[in-house]
Amino acid sequence: MSATRSGDARPRRRLLILGGTGEAAALARAAGERFGARLRVTTSLAGRTRTPAAVAGELRIGGFGGADALAAYLRDERIDLVIDATHPFAARISAAARAACVQAGVRRLVLARPAWHAGPGDRWIEAADAESAAKLLPSLGRRAFLTIGRRDLAPFARVTGCRFLVRLVEAPKETLALGEPGRDFDLVVARGPFSRENERNLMARHGIEVLVAKASGGAATEAKLVAARELGIPVVLLRRPRQEPGETAESPEKALAWLDRALAALDGASAVPT
Ligand code: NAP
Repeated sequence: MSATRSGDARPRRRLLILGGTGEAAALARAAGERFGARLRVTTSLAGRTRTPAAVAGELRIGGFGGADALAAYLRDERIDLVIDATHPFAARISAAARAACVQAGVRRLVLARPAWHAGPGDRWIEAADAESAAKLLPSLGRRAFLTIGRRDLAPFARVTGCRFLVRLVEAPKETLALGEPGRDFDLVVARGPFSRENERNLMARHGIEVLVAKASGGAATEAKLVAARELGIPVVLLRRPRQEPGETAESPEKALAWLDRALAALDGASAVPT
């Protein structure tokens, strides 16, 4: 902990954002703008993508090596606050963050997207995992759009009678479980967020009959569900893992308000009574 140089007597604090999402990037930017030199913001990425989107503030990349190692990092780096802004399906790092924060005595906020709820016209089928989702095909459609990332594709390779369109944030280096793009399946490489028009046009162009997505929640990836509804297409939604308990905010704006309060509480706790 060090004092800020701007004449502000309050000690400079350190925030670790566990990132890998648009919300984490938005929060890092907004926290830098709001708190300036008073708060040193570090975003941590797993290192899954070769070209991650730009992040404001400091960046560290790569796994910590589990909860104990993350707790050691929090102590060594003198982290004051942690915001877990990882993807709702990134369950391991969220569990590790909870355990590590308890161990290191660091206050933690989970930035969690609000869940989606089906409305009139939606045809959603919940699946426990990718394996169960694959079993529902091709009875729901013979042209399926898979928006579940590259690591859960293997069960779909066993589906016969269905052609897949796969969307990934970057071109895969390794051969995917589905085979060769172009020959065995269609591939679109694009980074969101996507507009409703984009989603609708893409699905119409590829003759998509069923959409497979993770039940991630939030506004950022909702457009494809709206497009599916408009096109009358069923959606298979992979069930969202249970969220880690603790203080929670639903948006970067609400996380900023939490930061305001958490910083004030830290300053209050460290103020020396005169
Ligand atoms: P995961 O299963 O929860 O995490 C696996 C391991 O990756 C963790 O145990 C940790 O390694 C490391 N890790 C994950 N997130 C990290 C972070 N932000 N900083 C440092 N290390 C991290 O996570 P995942 O599903 O593989 O997702 C990896 C990253 O991609 C996450 O940060 C997530 O926000 C982002 N992402 C995931 C999805 C998805 O659908 N899962 C979608 C979009 C973005 P150690 O055990 O060595 O510490």
